[in-house]
Amino acid sequence: MKVVVIGAGVGGLTTAALLAKAGLEVVVLEAHLYAGGSAGTFFHQGYRFDAGATLLAGFDPHGFFPRLAQSLGVQFPVRKLEQGESLMRVWLPQGRTVDRPVGHSHELAAQLEVFGPAVRPFWDWQERRARALWTVAEGLPFPPADGSELLKLVGQGIPWAHHNLRDLPGILADFLRPASSHAPADLVFRRFLDAQLLIASQADAQSTYALFGAAALDLPHRGPAMPLGGMGSVADTLAQAVRAHGGQVLYRHRAERLVLEGGRVRAVDVALGGRRRGEKERLEADWFIANLTPGDLAALSPNSLALSPPSDGWGAFMVHAALPAADIPPGPPYRQWAGEGDWTFVSLSDLYDTSRAPDGLRVLSASVHTPLGEWRGLSEAAYQAQKKVWQARVERQVERIIPGFAESAKLILGASPRTFAFYTRRQEGWVGGYPQVHPLRTPSPKTPYNNLLRVGETIFPGQSVPAVAMGGMRVAELVLSRLGGGNAVAKGKYIL
Ligand SMILES: Cc1cc2nc3c(=O)[nH]c(=O)nc-3n(C[C@H](O)[C@H](O)[C@H](O)COP(=O)(O)OP(=O)(O)OC[C@H]3O[C@@H](n4cnc5c(N)ncnc54)[C@H](O)[C@@H]3O)c2cc1C
Repeated sequence: MKVVVIGAGVGGLTTAALLAKAGLEVVVLEAHLYAGGSAGTFFHQGYRFDAGATLLAGFDPHGFFPRLAQSLGVQFPVRKLEQGESLMRVWLPQGRTVDRPVGHSHELAAQLEVFGPAVRPFWDWQERRARALWTVAEGLPFPPADGSELLKLVGQGIPWAHHNLRDLPGILADFLRPASSHAPADLVFRRFLDAQLLIASQADAQSTYALFGAAALDLPHRGPAMPLGGMGSVADTLAQAVRAHGGQVLYRHRAERLVLEGGRVRAVDVALGGRRRGEKERLEADWFIANLTPGDLAALSPNSLALSPPSDGWGAFMVHAALPAADIPPGPPYRQWAGEGDWTFVSLSDLYDTSRAPDGLRVLSASVHTPLGEWRGLSEAAYQAQKKVWQARVERQVERIIPGFAESAKLILGASPRTFAFYTRRQEGWVGGYPQVHPLRTPSPKTPYNNLLRVGETIFPGQSVPAVAMGGMRVAELVLSRLGGGNAVAKGKYIL
């Protein structure tokens, strides 16, 4: 049984590795030179910069990644953060800052100190909901792609609902009301929430539905870890697992066209790059997994209409820099500006990770959300001018967190949605998936073709490295259950 996975993002690679381990013949096609897509790490002048994602979670002792690693027989190179260690610092209006330490009790203490007792009910609610959700969220086949997933959803949902009977009315209401409905009126606290939710759900607290908000705010408490060597090490480890289980990961292999026959995908036409530029190959398989957005997949299908990113979908503008460690004020590795102007998320390479920059230096990536519409249809000159404006905007915000940043930086690079479109092949540079404004926004892996499924941040549970890896596990389970083996998956159990 042969499977072709289009795209070596974390979602595609997780599916590929699990299917290879289950004994299927797996080939991953990656257009670029290395794995990871928006969670890749690129080399430049001796530095290792994260292309997009920087902050990793899911490494708590019984968490998703340790179990995935064990199941695949690999180790993810990470440094886990300790309880009480600050994951990030958020700069608020009125010159205040609040830290987000690891562990609910530590976080509550930090919040009470900065915002006072009015925020206690909010964090009590958040912790209760997040705890309830995590017992069921992993691998949740929602919305179900077929009868087998529906059965599994019911099988997982009934005992969970029974266990959470007392909270059930509130949980159901939290599907419909926004996260802000639980928050006190304190405007500075609201700004903190908006900034945090924007990076996790791509929408502010008034638009994010409360259940998603509760889960997203749990990030510091779900096994945060610093990926050593950069975020790309997660994808590299998964690629290694694909190979270790007999699969192939082919770089500079861009899927160009799906070959359809009788309501199924028969093959994919591939354009090769590098020294084999200009060559084409046709790969036949029984199953196809597309680690692509709906629009990017539609562009490969001869019969599909063109699909655009959603009108509220975001692009990212990033600034990558290298600077002397001594010029960076002490503090946590992640820092967010939530004062006036653009909310800016700044990530620094781990103090203990010497692989990312020469001695005495650290790399920094700063990102802001940018509307895709602002980058459409620009001439080259207009684009270059716009890029300069946005780069200056981001640099100004980083200066507020790291005074003297621009002067002490050894190197500064800007990356716009066009850069993302070029390197990750995402249509218009749309990143972050669908904003989590209601529970049915993020679809299932299903496509109009029976043997073609989608994986990645535009299927449930959405964006982030752990989320797409969980989505990848779900898709592997779906393929295996459709193959109908008498394995644990078919009986509704997890692969891991
Ligand atoms: C600026 C930014 C910051 C972020 N920060 C964080 C963070 O701190 N923590 C976190 O957990 N998440 C973060 N994320 C989100 C996270 O990076 C993504 O949700 C996740 O990496 C998406 O994975 P994916 O499986 O959808 O694949 P993608 O990353 O979309 O990868 C898809 C791959 O497919 C390849 N491809 C595309 N078309 C073709 C084709 N035709 N043929 C062959 N290959 C093809 C691409 O080259 C790419 O490698 C961030 C994202 C961005 C943009």
